[in-house]
Amino acid sequence: MSQKYRPATQLVRGGLTRSNHAETSEAMYLTSGFVYDSAEQAEATFKNEIAHYQYSRFANPTTTMLEEKLALLEGADLCRLMATGMAAVHSALLSHLKTGDRLVASRALFGSCHWIVTTLLPRYGIESEFVDGGDLAQWKAALSKPAAMVLLETPSNPMLELVDLPAVAKLAHEAGALVVVDNVFATPLLQRPLELGADIVVYSTTKHMDGQGRVLGGAVLGPKKWVEETLMPFIRNTGPAMSPFNAWVVLKGLETLKLRVDQMCRNAAAVADFLSERTEVKRVLYPFRADHPQHALAVKQMSAGGTLVTFELKGGKAETFRFMNALKLVDISNNLGDAKSMVTHPATTTHMRVAPEERARLGITEGTVRLSVGLEDVADIIEDLAEALDAIGAGASARAAE
Ligand SMILES: *Cc1c(COP(=O)(O)O)cnc(C)c1O
Repeated sequence: MSQKYRPATQLVRGGLTRSNHAETSEAMYLTSGFVYDSAEQAEATFKNEIAHYQYSRFANPTTTMLEEKLALLEGADLCRLMATGMAAVHSALLSHLKTGDRLVASRALFGSCHWIVTTLLPRYGIESEFVDGGDLAQWKAALSKPAAMVLLETPSNPMLELVDLPAVAKLAHEAGALVVVDNVFATPLLQRPLELGADIVVYSTTKHMDGQGRVLGGAVLGPKKWVEETLMPFIRNTGPAMSPFNAWVVLKGLETLKLRVDQMCRNAAAVADFLSERTEVKRVLYPFRADHPQHALAVKQMSAGGTLVTFELKGGKAETFRFMNALKLVDISNNLGDAKSMVTHPATTTHMRVAPEERARLGITEGTVRLSVGLEDVADIIEDLAEALDAIGAGASARAAE
């Protein structure tokens, strides 16, 4: 399918290859292997002389359809799917980095990405340096020495901090580094890292792309030469492949990605405005609100504010837990990007293993709540939040009366 179509069209049509049965929908090829007509055909396949599927650890017709759809959507040369988002991040980094290399990363990373950078990479003699992602002077200082890779998330989890992609990409390229962007929070619809200077984009397809809480998955997108010569040998031989069943679920999820993300962004913007009016709330972080510290950058680099809202309650852990426990509609869950609205308390869950000083540095307090806004009627989401905020005060006055 042609690159000329717009994202909404790619989401529905991109990558579809019909079998000789002419099925309407993408077919699910649940097969681990493939057969050859002759020993000669097998030999020619292994010599790369003919195109023939070999084994689903390398490629499978269903996963190929999803890879082609995602590459068309992102405007990337090639995409490779992985079993999870973390397998995608891990493969992108470890296929490329070697002993003696340097990685520069923004401090505000997804918990497991943080572990890879701080705990796993040093075991292999790969040095890393963290910077505050929003501070260009720190990027400049860290990239004044040669580096092999830059890893960043924008907006970040959970504080929705932004990184100026074109500026950091320029500094990174001058230092000899490839820029890897974890674009989960923005989705390919709201931010286009490759057009802003990034080299490689990674996703957890578990989030908005499936978006209905069913399957884990990940994807790496990048230039043809890097994917073929660096990433492919690594994943063929280490085996983080996505199952064709999961790829099929994500293919069906993508048909509605734009509808879901657009509506979730509208809901999130309304929820952020509602929260900002409440006296129990100390501050609200939402990239497209004028009071976000990097609002100007957000509107320059993203086409909407995203589906997550992070806010800080005035109380501590007790008040925050009382608020979360009083929610009747919104679930307590560490997932995000789902049709169902979900809250999480980063300090005691996703960022529990980040050292307290580091958490403080990231701005995560006992009152910080990350809300992934879903597809329920926004009036119901807001009513649920309002009643749970009321319950904080009610709990406090009940205690005072005791
Ligand atoms: C969820 C997530 C990941 C990891 O993805 P999994 O599919 O859970 O392995 C990585 N980065 C970000 C920003 C995420 O939200």
